[in-house]
Amino acid sequence: MGVLRTQVGIIGAGPSGLLLSHLLHLHGIESVLLEARSREHVERRVRAGLIEQRTVDLLRDVGLAGRLDSEGLTHEGFELRFGGRRHRIDCTALTGQTATLYGQQEIVKDMIAARVAAGGALHFGVTDVTVADLDGDRPVLRGTLDGTPTTIACDFIAGCDGYHGVARRSIPSGRLTAYGHHYPLGWLGVLVEAPPATRELIYSVHERGFALHSMRSPRISRLYLQVDRDENLANWPDERIWKELRDRLATDDAQPLNEGPILERGITAMRGFIVEPMRYGRLFLVGDAAHIVPPSAAKGLNLAVADARLLADAFAAWYGRGDGDPLAAYSPAALQANWRGLEFSHRMTHLLHRFPDATPFTSRLQRSRLDQLVRSTTAATAFAEEYLGIARR
Ligand SMILES: Cc1cc2nc3c(=O)[nH]c(=O)nc-3n(C[C@H](O)[C@H](O)[C@H](O)COP(=O)(O)OP(=O)(O)OC[C@H]3O[C@@H](n4cnc5c(N)ncnc54)[C@H](O)[C@@H]3O)c2cc1C
Repeated sequence: MGVLRTQVGIIGAGPSGLLLSHLLHLHGIESVLLEARSREHVERRVRAGLIEQRTVDLLRDVGLAGRLDSEGLTHEGFELRFGGRRHRIDCTALTGQTATLYGQQEIVKDMIAARVAAGGALHFGVTDVTVADLDGDRPVLRGTLDGTPTTIACDFIAGCDGYHGVARRSIPSGRLTAYGHHYPLGWLGVLVEAPPATRELIYSVHERGFALHSMRSPRISRLYLQVDRDENLANWPDERIWKELRDRLATDDAQPLNEGPILERGITAMRGFIVEPMRYGRLFLVGDAAHIVPPSAAKGLNLAVADARLLADAFAAWYGRGDGDPLAAYSPAALQANWRGLEFSHRMTHLLHRFPDATPFTSRLQRSRLDQLVRSTTAATAFAEEYLGIARR
């Protein structure tokens, strides 16, 4: 049986847990991080890719943007296709800010490399993770590390272990209020070995459903199709995927898609979820452990990073000057930002998708919203500020 002692115990080596351990290290605060999966697994997990400028700025400020600066793709706008026509929203002209395309798995690799180089206590492949004594002064984190059952006495625990993690489920019932919504929609995502057809993202609204053309590098494209929530991947052979992508992204003057081998594919059911508060005693919930947004606005990673930063600053105030106010303010401040991210993601989901209960009336309303976005600079500016995360400040 092993016994360890640390200041902050962290569960989960996703972007939120890794960033938190890195920021704490910069503040001179010790942490021990326990991750259920292997390092190889978390470094290969393909998920988010669209990074807000504030996230890029933070990663730059804390020395994590070396590769992101050389390999990330800077985007000044995106294309919106509907009614067979292409429209460009120039976010940089409207707001002065940009977005960056850089895969979440690359951010995770960069964060792990930095923590390993700094001699950080990261443990992968940890089983049986549990938490206890959350409402006392000495919460305890337990897990089996390299076959050895280990107890870690902590000052605080950060649950950065995603939606399916153990942290949120360890909070006694009745202490959290959960708000959830299941959309009758899914996204079929493919990672393709082919150069992107365009430099910028394309969001396309089509009568058979939404399609998104994105990218991860000059050689790798990432494409999505709206499918039914319960759709079976087996119903989607390569030829059907490519035909739907071609049809849904088509306009008279559009560049043809570059097709190539599909390296990875999966279907994600869309939902929104958030719990209040994001704290119980000395356990703090961070990122997807506390909230899930539908992927339409690519906010999940950015919200998780913002939570980690807020919590790291609050711990710094606690350890640096004995000030507990920022820790007390963590949950209300994080919830305010996360509800904004969720509300915009919900709105963008309705703007772009064909819902199963759509009627000619609701379809015309949707078209009117799209028309307004491409005709009104005021509407486009407000949208771009939300899209780039500026309006969440
Ligand atoms: C398929 C998919 C596609 C997505 N696409 C996008 C996108 O395009 N844009 C976007 O912005 N967002 C996207 N997201 C959301 C984004 O990836 C998440 O918001 C982001 O990963 C949240 O980071 P996190 O660190 O909070 O949680 P996670 O990345 O989920 O990390 C949690 C970590 O905790 C570990 N863990 C879980 N349980 C335990 C346990 N019991 N013990 C120890 N460790 C545990 C997990 O293995 C994982 O490594 C996507 C998510 C998914 C699932």
